[in-house]
Amino acid sequence: MKTIRIRVVQNSLVRLIPWEVGQEAITAERRWEAQDGMCALCDRPIPLEPENKLLQMSQDRTDSANLTYDWQNMRLTHLACNLGKSDATVDEWLGYLALIRQA
Ligand SMILES: [Zn+2]
Repeated sequence: MKTIRIRVVQNSLVRLIPWEVGQEAITAERRWEAQDGMCALCDRPIPLEPENKLLQMSQDRTDSANLTYDWQNMRLTHLACNLGKSDATVDEWLGYLALIRQA
């Protein structure tokens, strides 16, 4: 069994969640692998041990009205992306990404 430790950041609270403990940790591990380690909001790599706190992993609920962080409703993002998108729509977020990625 893998023993990767994932640092999950939520509301600026850093928690180290071991693989062996709890459904939430298993979901985070499986989600990270399912996303190939990429941020669900910007499609760039999420480092597991970043020096830059803005690149830390953050759990984002796909449906914010659903308070459950389960497989269906949880995706992993960079902390900065999660905080930046906040309650904006997907279209608003994509418009922002298009702007900052202009050459
Ligand atoms: Zn991102």
